Amino acid sequence: MSPESSGEGSSPTDACVVPGCGAESARHLSLAEARRAFPDLPEKGRRAPLCREHYRAWKKATKEARTLDRLGW
Ligand SMILES: [Zn+2]
Repeated sequence: MSPESSGEGSSPTDACVVPGCGAESARHLSLAEARRAFPDLPEKGRRAPLCREHYRAWKKATKEARTLDRLGW
């Protein structure tokens, strides 16, 4: 719930990049960043749209990298 201007203007809504999810993206990360939490992301451009849930998971995973196994992927 915090709209953040990334300076990229308005882009069409992308689907979450996490395989099997496909929810509406809430945040965009660089693919490299996203891969820190989701290593098996497809090589598809340089940006990785994440839905709200996966963004939260990403934040958590990058913050506490050692509790990754709790996430189950
Ligand atoms: Zn997702």
